[in-house]
Amino acid sequence: MGAVSVKEWMQNVIKPEQIEKYKDNGKDFINEAHINELLLKKCQPEKQEIRDIMAKSLNLERLEPEETAALLNCTDEDLWQEMYQTGLQIKQKVYGRRIVTFAPLYISNYCVNSCVYCGFRGNNDQSIRQHLTMDELREEIKALVQKGHKRLIMVYGEHPKSDAHYIAETLKVAYSTKVGHGEIRRSNVNAAPMSIEDLEILRDVGIGTFQVFQETYHHSTYKKLHPRGIKADYGWRLYALHRAMDAGVDDVGIGALFGLYDWKFEVLGLLFHTIDLEKKFAGVGPHTISFPRLEPAVNTPFIENNSYKIDDETFKKLVTVIRLSVPYTGMILTARENPSIRQDVIQVGCTQIDAGANIAIGGYSKGSVDYERQQFILGDNRSLDEAIRDLAKLGYITSFCTAGYRCGRTGNYFMEIAKKGKVHHLCMPNAILTFKEYLLDYASPETIEVGEKLIQNEFEALPNDLVKKQVTEFLRRIEAGERDLFL
Ligand code: SAM
Ligand code: SF4
Repeated sequence: MGAVSVKEWMQNVIKPEQIEKYKDNGKDFINEAHINELLLKKCQPEKQEIRDIMAKSLNLERLEPEETAALLNCTDEDLWQEMYQTGLQIKQKVYGRRIVTFAPLYISNYCVNSCVYCGFRGNNDQSIRQHLTMDELREEIKALVQKGHKRLIMVYGEHPKSDAHYIAETLKVAYSTKVGHGEIRRSNVNAAPMSIEDLEILRDVGIGTFQVFQETYHHSTYKKLHPRGIKADYGWRLYALHRAMDAGVDDVGIGALFGLYDWKFEVLGLLFHTIDLEKKFAGVGPHTISFPRLEPAVNTPFIENNSYKIDDETFKKLVTVIRLSVPYTGMILTARENPSIRQDVIQVGCTQIDAGANIAIGGYSKGSVDYERQQFILGDNRSLDEAIRDLAKLGYITSFCTAGYRCGRTGNYFMEIAKKGKVHHLCMPNAILTFKEYLLDYASPETIEVGEKLIQNEFEALPNDLVKKQVTEFLRRIEAGERDLFL
């Protein structure tokens, strides 16, 4: 495709009517004056007020913006310790001692945008561009499946080379590539905002969660950091997931890139985004919330010179406040963070991590790290096996389970059971079963040793004899060679 047709393509992507229809009285849901006012009004919260808010979160009720503002402004370190504990309790109550694990798979890094913080931006001449063919993609999937992965997040730059039709083809390849017992059972997508019609194409080929991060909710900062390209349109991005819901993509993931603007403002932005989705889609908000933190990238000086950098302590606080604000939603902690921060922040309520990540395009099949083909530089380079072993030592079982989605436990159905704290009733038995498959098919002897003990402990803790009987029978069948058994 020549330069002119890329330009033409760009002119037709945004459908203004698919932005306007979601606004209330012509305004989007980020009212900056109101957010700033909330943060000022709640600048010195009382101890009792913070404790009452924690009790509400523990009761699995979503917080109101004034309550989240109070938590964000807390300066009492003892209360923060209590909030960390509450975050963990909420996570255990909703999801149990279970961490869902996935691999990021970067597929194409051609990009028409110029996000100043991203190594893939179109005007970064030090970025090596690549666009996987379906054969190359198959090699990547095989390499991932051979390591034991079952779930992916597939990532794409914004370009006509990676339009909805291409993404749909890549999803089909992901689901159809099998190696021995192994296969990909769920492919989530992180790609540019699309029209409802394009999202319907992805729905039809079985897209998992569709993720779009707003990066920053602050309008003028957004404008400054996205100077050109389709992404310069704040509203097109803000309503990307509203359109996904309208297209019948049940599970959507929101996120903010922390380090671009004031972290307290961004947490409230995520909350207002959640509230607007819940309001417009019968109580169904985001399936997951992501909170990536800005990382260095090749030839990207913006990152070193920027004044909103988030230190580790603040990062832990912001993750905790998100956990408390939307207690029933999945929270994703990525390998942007180093292993020790991950071990620490998992404890305040995250539910999903990526592991064994290689974010260079074509990196899994080549088995090499290649910064010029990466969007940014990773903080955690442990293998999947090591990450799983470290989690097991902390008492967390790694779940590769995708049964919920394949049995239609998505969207509204999922939110209902999550809000009642019942996800783990089905998910823990299924986590045990998929973990057992992993130990049998892919794990190192050290991981098997820790993992088998963990399975034993979690089995003992299952809620009743009927479930135990069923799990015992399935474990026996898995040991005999069957796979993909779930409750
Ligand atoms: N191109 C699409 C888009 O921008 O929506 C899809 C994915 S982009 C490759 C994935 C996410 O990576 C972005 O939404 C952004 O939050 C994050 N990201 C970009 N540059 C980053 C950096 N330097 N450090 C950490 N995360 C970054
Ligand atoms: Fe392109 Fe996404 Fe990177 Fe922006 S963040 S330059 S849209 S790949």
